[in-house]
Amino acid sequence: MDAARSLAAVRPSGAVPEPDGARLIAEIRSLEDQKSALAARQARLSVAFDLIQRREQRDRGVPAGELGSGVGAQIALARRESPARGGRLLGLAKALVTEMPRTLAALETGQLNEWRATLLVKETACLSAEDRAAVDAELAPDTGTFDGAGDRGIIAAARTAAYRRDPRSVTQRASHASTERHVSLRPAPDTMCYLTALLPVAAGVAVYAGLTRHADTLRAAGDPRTRGQLMADTLVERTTGKAGGISGIEIQLVMTDRTLFQADSEPARLPGYGIVPAGWARDLLTNAGDAAGNTAGDATGGTGLNSTGARARNVWLRRLYTAPGTGELTGMDSRARLFPAGLRRFLTARDDTCRTPYCDAPIRHFDHIIPWHRGGTTTHDNGAGLCEACNHTKETPGWSSRPRPGPRHTLDVTTPTGHTYQATAPPLPGTPARQPEADLAVAKSPDHRRQRHRRANDLHRTRRQNQPAA
Ligand SMILES: [Zn+2]
Repeated sequence: MDAARSLAAVRPSGAVPEPDGARLIAEIRSLEDQKSALAARQARLSVAFDLIQRREQRDRGVPAGELGSGVGAQIALARRESPARGGRLLGLAKALVTEMPRTLAALETGQLNEWRATLLVKETACLSAEDRAAVDAELAPDTGTFDGAGDRGIIAAARTAAYRRDPRSVTQRASHASTERHVSLRPAPDTMCYLTALLPVAAGVAVYAGLTRHADTLRAAGDPRTRGQLMADTLVERTTGKAGGISGIEIQLVMTDRTLFQADSEPARLPGYGIVPAGWARDLLTNAGDAAGNTAGDATGGTGLNSTGARARNVWLRRLYTAPGTGELTGMDSRARLFPAGLRRFLTARDDTCRTPYCDAPIRHFDHIIPWHRGGTTTHDNGAGLCEACNHTKETPGWSSRPRPGPRHTLDVTTPTGHTYQATAPPLPGTPARQPEADLAVAKSPDHRRQRHRRANDLHRTRRQNQPAA
């Protein structure tokens, strides 16, 4: 948006000719206050909602230990957040409403924003309810004690008060922290990624020292790689058991046949990482092994052929069929109750991550959208990839899902309050941008219909000839 248009956008309707700077700042401040007040209101509503849901669940016979499940997930959907974050937001709301009334009051009046209130809740999380309330009273955020204080200042004040109240539980928190150890992966620019491990300090230092020592040994023996490169390579080699790390572990790179065989520039997708450039994807395969096996490739896109790498890596190409235009992944059915390996691969390729809206967690379960015991079939239409937590939430009374017809695979998630959210599978590589409307509009012309019909027939023929090995 150019400058003139952004000015026009904030100009109040009516006679005022030009917004002046002072008024804009005043409005920005006022909106900030309102955001905090609204966050406080959301916290109160969340706690009330939790109470209502627990009561309803008790009436439905949900065991005491499972009361409250799915509440965070519903708040997440309403707030367009991931289920994990929904749970944390609910925890924050409970702490504010039930244990930290003065922090909540500061949020209501805009003296703290939602993030800074979160910091106070986090830093007092290890305390008993009484101690936490005492820290809340001591800090008295609603009296303006934090006026002008930044995040660090707030954390320091909360920590000091917490240590004073209960030095032991703060120390115990350190031992609890080790239960949080984990490994995570997130994308970095230029088809790199960060593999991060959160470890107890002794373990982390040991791993780092081990890698350093090995790298130094190799360098002393004349290895030309830098120490950083050697450490990274050693980490991959020792973890996967293979140099380069790829052989023996399926990575499921998804790309179009045009990208693979015709040097097309349509990007590919690497599950667990995201979108990668076409050239990089081709390089990965060609460097993996020179043997190009029996070529395949059908008119509609997808990966084909299986070829065995002559060198270090095996490259298996598996064909995925996508519908022309919409990019919907189409494929085979199965009568089995458990999703067979082929169908699981299909769902992994189609869904990429957990299908719950806003949840980016990796797929851990292959779920019957309509449960098997209620007649749901073991098909790709009725299957969806879900993460551990979402799979559990779906089993909670009052939740249901059903597939719905759409250009791409879509499912409706209905929550206990009757709200329905839609989840559409992400576009596969090769899916035209903004196809649906355009496609539907042109579909009305008879010419185009004939063409579509012909394409559909081609697809059928191709499919009968080459049974998809998805
Ligand atoms: Zn999920």
